[in-house]
Amino acid sequence: MRNENKVWEAILDKIYEVQREVLEKISSSLSLEKPYSASVTTILHCYTRARFDKKYGLYRPIPTNINTLLGLLFDFTIKVVLQGYPPPDHHYVKEYEDSDGNKYTIHAGPDVVLGDEVVELKYTSMPLEKIPLEHHELQLKIYMNILDKSGRLVYLTPYGVKEIYYSREEALTDREVAELARQFFIEKKSPRYDWECQYCLYKSLCPLYRKPEEVSQQEP
Ligand code: SF4
Repeated sequence: MRNENKVWEAILDKIYEVQREVLEKISSSLSLEKPYSASVTTILHCYTRARFDKKYGLYRPIPTNINTLLGLLFDFTIKVVLQGYPPPDHHYVKEYEDSDGNKYTIHAGPDVVLGDEVVELKYTSMPLEKIPLEHHELQLKIYMNILDKSGRLVYLTPYGVKEIYYSREEALTDREVAELARQFFIEKKSPRYDWECQYCLYKSLCPLYRKPEEVSQQEP
């Protein structure tokens, strides 16, 4: 008997291949100067982290903790179950304008599109009663706006599973999406959520680091 790495290395190679493409798309869609442009997930997180990532190229295609790994495996498995292999790549773009006339191009890459529904898959270690998490709901509701579809959040957690349906009328409005984009591009909100700092690669180097009042209040 001996410890080996053959199968896990094959799994990591596949994750690396898939995640590198995803991160390249997120990076190439990001413009922090006019004309403003970013992915939905980017505008729902810390501006400074996005700026550091862009500037220093610190995108990580390989998960460095078990929850991220479980999330990627869950995403990939369910995408294949629902859409076949290889799962299709979904990419949609829409432009928004805020009340000051600033324009933002927002890129959506939903996990699954099934008929008139957009489906987002989430793995989290949060207890079921704290689900849905706010940033997951916002992400889905922006996708619903961009695709003009109803939506569904599908959760896997260590405590059980949950599935939440949102009718088309529950999508964010254009004005609400523009406001979120304005908070990111113009206000440069850093962090967007206090909990972000504890998971951030730059926490030891960032003067804006904020100690969360309640650790594990939420998580990515
Ligand atoms: S430490 Fe906090 S404020 Fe600084 S980049 Fe990371 S998430 Fe943003």
